[in-house]
Amino acid sequence: MKVAWIGLGNMGGPMAGNLVAAGYTVTGYDPSEQAQRSAAEHGVSVATVLAEAVAGADVVFTMLPNGRLVSSVLLDADGVLDHLPAGALVVDSSTIDIATARELHEAVTGRGFRFLDAPVSGGVFGAAAGTLTFMVGGTGENLEAARPLIEVLAGRVFHAGGPGAGQSAKLANNMMLAINTAGLAEGATLADRLGLDPAVFYQIAEVSSGSSWALKNWYPSPGVVETAAVNHDFNGGFAVSLMRKDVGLALEAGAGAGLDLPYASRALADLDRLIEAGWSGKDTASMVKLVDGTLPD
Ligand code: NAD
Repeated sequence: MKVAWIGLGNMGGPMAGNLVAAGYTVTGYDPSEQAQRSAAEHGVSVATVLAEAVAGADVVFTMLPNGRLVSSVLLDADGVLDHLPAGALVVDSSTIDIATARELHEAVTGRGFRFLDAPVSGGVFGAAAGTLTFMVGGTGENLEAARPLIEVLAGRVFHAGGPGAGQSAKLANNMMLAINTAGLAEGATLADRLGLDPAVFYQIAEVSSGSSWALKNWYPSPGVVETAAVNHDFNGGFAVSLMRKDVGLALEAGAGAGLDLPYASRALADLDRLIEAGWSGKDTASMVKLVDGTLPD
């Protein structure tokens, strides 16, 4: 089986590398030289043009920043579908808006290919470790066809429902993560100001009712949680700009469903403040800087 991988960034690079490590032939494409270099280090054979990456592929994964790019990379003239063998399976693991995901199901299948929206949760560590949670929208038949590959990348695989259901699950999940991260920022800062040792408070909260995935992975005091971006000046990890995108898309979906979501709206405003301060590329756990007053001018 030949696999093509489009988008070899923080997530896509290590995911493609895991398929190589599992014995699959993977050809990747990404215009960024840095992404190309690091994917090549993971054993991915990197093509210089998109057409070369997808020629002869049975399955194509896309792992791109947003829905506009996914649509353009797949559907534009000289895009993926123009070079893919008929009947091939396209798996979009990017986080994108639900409407675009549904449109892609129609457009891709309308041109004689198969499609799944299959966003992931678990961050760059989950990508590297092959323990991501996959939330898949589309037919069960297509999921079964993709399953051997997805299982290399995943700890858990869920069939969320029909077209767009993977993205619906992902956006609701990430909206909760943003709100949890804002709560973590306030709780960790409060504990600090009240004179608690961060490591001791972390141990208490981790097994108490204030615990969350954000707390366990992103605790925002240095030296408490090994995986936390605070240990390296909030570089790497899950970018503020990507979280902003997800919360914005969740709010759009909420508005479409007639819902008022005030905590998510506040999280969105906080993420916008970080972006205005030039922190769009920093990890989302940097929300703590809005609480502890350490955001540089
Ligand atoms: P990233 O910015 O590190 O990677 C995206 C890559 O896409 C970049 O390397 C970029 O050069 C490449 N790209 C842009 N245009 C392209 C094109 N036309 N053809 C091929 N490649 C192109 O982002 P990421 O963190 O890897 O996230 C990718 C997707 O995964 C996003 O949709 C994001 O929301 C989602 N996601 C990210 C995380 C995380 O923790 N980083 C977790 C879950 C889901």
